Amino acid sequence: MTVHGVATEEPAAAEAPLVVLDKVNKHYGELHVLRDIDLSVQRGEVIVIIGPSGSGKSTLCRAINRLESIDSGVIAIDGTPLPAEGRQLARLRADVGMVFQNFNLFAHKTVLENVTLGPVTVLGKSKDAAERRGRELLDRVGIGNQADKYPAQLSGGQQQRVAIARSLAMDPKVILFDEPTSALDPEMVNEVLDVMTALARDGMTMLVVTHEMGFARRAADRVVFMADGQIVEENTPDDFFGAPRSERAKSFLAKIL
Ligand code: ADP
Ligand code: MG
Repeated sequence: MTVHGVATEEPAAAEAPLVVLDKVNKHYGELHVLRDIDLSVQRGEVIVIIGPSGSGKSTLCRAINRLESIDSGVIAIDGTPLPAEGRQLARLRADVGMVFQNFNLFAHKTVLENVTLGPVTVLGKSKDAAERRGRELLDRVGIGNQADKYPAQLSGGQQQRVAIARSLAMDPKVILFDEPTSALDPEMVNEVLDVMTALARDGMTMLVVTHEMGFARRAADRVVFMADGQIVEENTPDDFFGAPRSERAKSFLAKIL
């Protein structure tokens, strides 16, 4: 940064983006599903990714978590490029939480076990410490009283809040949400969005794929609009919804609003 025109010595980490994608490309056979994706996510930033079905939003999330490989380009988390595999990948992946449309909870484990398994097996926490923190996090998402139940005994909204608590239990640097409310009955959407809005206010770095435009307006620092594997437009929520620049975004918004 500069003060009165003079460069000051800032620790690089304070200003460097937390997630950087640089010219990321991916194909599924003939299909060019991610095309020269450039994206930087700052610490504490909430980015909402919007776009038509099939535009590559899920593939992008999965690539950032290396659940999918990429063909070219670089994805870096907190300054470290993601390796293709190995122990360093497991460590970096722990920094990136992921919340899926279908919750992906462990069906044969209790709610509390779902939240403590990762911290105990991956982070090496003691069972006691993991349970203490797990109960705190379940309280934070409003389901502290469900700790001993199994996922199937919970509503969809409650299950998704367990998934969010489970992600938080790993102390991730960033959480990716891929359509976290799309599988929910309408009356349960807000209880999940409220938890996400609170996380955003608390400063969590979040990348959220969603069709919930109210959430995007309320919580996003930036809207990224994708179509056909490309980032077509990046904008503030006010300008994206009020004055979109691209024709693709205009016609998409005309259909959904
Ligand atoms: P979105 O999440 O925006 O709906 P996706 O990232 O799921 O889009 O998919 C982008 C495109 O890639 C779609 O055309 C989809 O059919 C295709 N696709 C996704 N996953 C695979 C896969 N594992 N194999 C082949 N094609 C895939
Ligand atoms: Mg998707």
